[in-house]
Amino acid sequence: MNVPASRPDWVPPDAGTEFTTRVVAGTPPRAIPAGRAKRRAPEDGAALAAAIRAGDRSALARGITLVESRAAAHRAAGDELLQRLSPFAGGSVRVGVTGPPGAGKSTFIDALGAQLGGAGRAVAVLSVDPSSPVTRGSILGDKARMERLARLPNAFIRPSPSGGELGGVARRTRETIVLCEAAGFDVVLVETVGVGQSEVLVRGMVDCFLVLLLAGAGDELQGIKKGIIELADVLAVNKADGDNRARVETARRELARAVHYLAAPDGAWQPPVLACSARTNEGIDEVWRAVERFVAGGRAHGGFAARRREQSLAWLGALVEEGLREAFAARPEVMRLRAELEPRVAGGTLPAPAAAQAILAASGWRAPEFSAKGAAVGKIRPVMGGDSG
Ligand code: GDP
Repeated sequence: MNVPASRPDWVPPDAGTEFTTRVVAGTPPRAIPAGRAKRRAPEDGAALAAAIRAGDRSALARGITLVESRAAAHRAAGDELLQRLSPFAGGSVRVGVTGPPGAGKSTFIDALGAQLGGAGRAVAVLSVDPSSPVTRGSILGDKARMERLARLPNAFIRPSPSGGELGGVARRTRETIVLCEAAGFDVVLVETVGVGQSEVLVRGMVDCFLVLLLAGAGDELQGIKKGIIELADVLAVNKADGDNRARVETARRELARAVHYLAAPDGAWQPPVLACSARTNEGIDEVWRAVERFVAGGRAHGGFAARRREQSLAWLGALVEEGLREAFAARPEVMRLRAELEPRVAGGTLPAPAAAQAILAASGWRAPEFSAKGAAVGKIRPVMGGDSG
């Protein structure tokens, strides 16, 4: 390559070859017109996949945005990206971390991730933020989170878009895991708030489900749903530091008893109940060792592979269902009928089952449970003003 080069001005004019330095002229940055700064060319799935595989973090972030997108224009590139990257997925340990707001999830993930990162693991953190369905606000919040982890070069933190619907965010979390694994991350931590449905969804995407709890003021088990304990593979009571230590130990013992009674029959995994402090790092190691023990045991007796197989089938089912729902909703006759019938159902002049039957029938679908009530369709037809079915 013929690059114009000159000697730096501190080299004496009559110097020989003892000065090896050359200054190569650079290219001045091109100014980007203000209005166009944000616009990007459409993503090319193949190029993006290659960049993600090469460890380009900004490509990974763009890839996730692409698969999260609901825009029809992004679908083909998103699908291509997933197809190209899927063969490289599956290599990480996927761990779900849940707990009530304030349990210390993000502090814990920060501490754990920093430890793992320090030990040479590449850690990706994905947050599944269910968002409040009422306010559309984020439950996980946008406080400065995971500062230790964020500084590590081999870590990647991806908060989910706030205001996204629960199913939508969780649906794309599976795809995001694929992308992170293809990018070389060997630990994927999926954070979710333990307030309802989201933890069940996340439990269905991970190899190990870790539940973080707090020592309560009175009855230690108050407010802890039996359901969430049954989902857990490992439990930890956080904030075992300072004055809180003794209370955490009491809570831990009480919880361990409850877990023992709820736990699976002999021979199966007995979820350990540990104590830790995300603030002092005490016990974090032990929690991770329990996760590794669980995963190693599962790999040895086949539970790990069986769980992943089950999860793949659930993923397939979810995608087919989603595709059907979208294709159905996009049919012109369905859109027209819904627009027509919804105000009547809302106004109380048409029963919901009758309207549903009309919409399903008009689209060529006829749900079996409605077929016995043909009379209802007859009543609606004249209102639709013609033959739409
Ligand atoms: P999240 O809502 O579950 O993500 O909880 P955060 O990680 O945001 O923590 C909630 C609060 O608890 C913050 O003020 C943290 O500093 C604090 N916290 C988290 N972990 C610990 C801990 O191990 N010990 C103590 N004392 N405080 C903690």
